[in-house]
Amino acid sequence: MAFAGIAGHETAKQVLRRAIGTDRVSHAYLFEGPAHVGKTLTAVAFAKALMCATPPEPGEGCGECAICRAVERGNHADFMVLFPTSRVETTDEEGQKAVAEIEGSEIRTDAIGRLIDRAHAKAVSARHKVLLVSDAQAMNPVAANHLLKTLEEPPPGTVLILTATSVAALLPTIVSRCQLVRFGPVPLAETHAALARLFPDEDPALVRSVAALSGGRPGWARRLLEHPGALDVRARVLALAERLPADPPVACMKAAEAFIEAAEAWWLATSDSDSAAKLLKANRDRILRTQIGELLDILLTWFRDLAIAGEAGAEGLLINADRARELREAAAAAPDCAAAVAAVAETRNALRGNANLRLAVEVMLVRLRQALTVGALGPT
Ligand SMILES: [Zn+2]
Repeated sequence: MAFAGIAGHETAKQVLRRAIGTDRVSHAYLFEGPAHVGKTLTAVAFAKALMCATPPEPGEGCGECAICRAVERGNHADFMVLFPTSRVETTDEEGQKAVAEIEGSEIRTDAIGRLIDRAHAKAVSARHKVLLVSDAQAMNPVAANHLLKTLEEPPPGTVLILTATSVAALLPTIVSRCQLVRFGPVPLAETHAALARLFPDEDPALVRSVAALSGGRPGWARRLLEHPGALDVRARVLALAERLPADPPVACMKAAEAFIEAAEAWWLATSDSDSAAKLLKANRDRILRTQIGELLDILLTWFRDLAIAGEAGAEGLLINADRARELREAAAAAPDCAAAVAAVAETRNALRGNANLRLAVEVMLVRLRQALTVGALGPT
């Protein structure tokens, strides 16, 4: 994808285009911003613009030449991408145990070592070598220190790009040697337009809902529309929230179980790894903590919608626009939406620490049930 095809991030794209146009390309960049907003996509477009054999204008790749196409596929010798992986034990069809590397949580020292070797190797066919470390905050301390030496004495012609969700998660000495480029959430209209282009045959109300749900993260929205299983999990979570007021209090324990099962299903539905199930088994608590967090974000949008669903003219403002009727019905019971939002937000924070997953979800559901039934019981 060229710069023009990436939704949002106008300032970032302009900075990078201008760097090429004025021949002032830095030897290292740090792209900081939330996950799935388009940092890696932009890094690949930048790599093409730097490496292209026939750039249509300075600062753009043609997208057609052999180099652009190889970069897009991720297999050009002068271009390398590292992303966090995990080593998991697997068993083959004959019962032999092996260790496999799958998408995961850590960028290890040996991977950084391969990247550094590539940095010092001669360029094969492009003007620049571009080396990308995606989610650089996942580098272990030894790997980070190893990379630091290369950042201090960069080999000529090599451009290093690190992406990270927060500069605070990186060594200050690494941050100080990179040019910082910030990525914020993409405006809703642009996220929506990009999704509508990508999914012309999808239900327009659903596409609009997913665009709003994504909170300005087009990559997240795209993942949801590409993995129909994830949409099923969203439906399960929303149904659970809808059902809570009608259930007896004791049902909250069962609902907690269902919620954690939904978090597992969310991981299995959205992970691009063939070994998602194995990874989950090996790292259950850590993975579920992040997955439950993603489901809580969905719940937050539901209660935010519930707070306004009963008002005239709310239709166009709902995030979960495809569930407008259910929201109107639930709003008629006059729930305490502020209390519901507080319960979810506090649970989200607790899960960032060491809170017991099952207990935290259970307590949240009890609080939610209370918040949702307060109006139904009526004032005395
Ligand atoms: Zn090209």
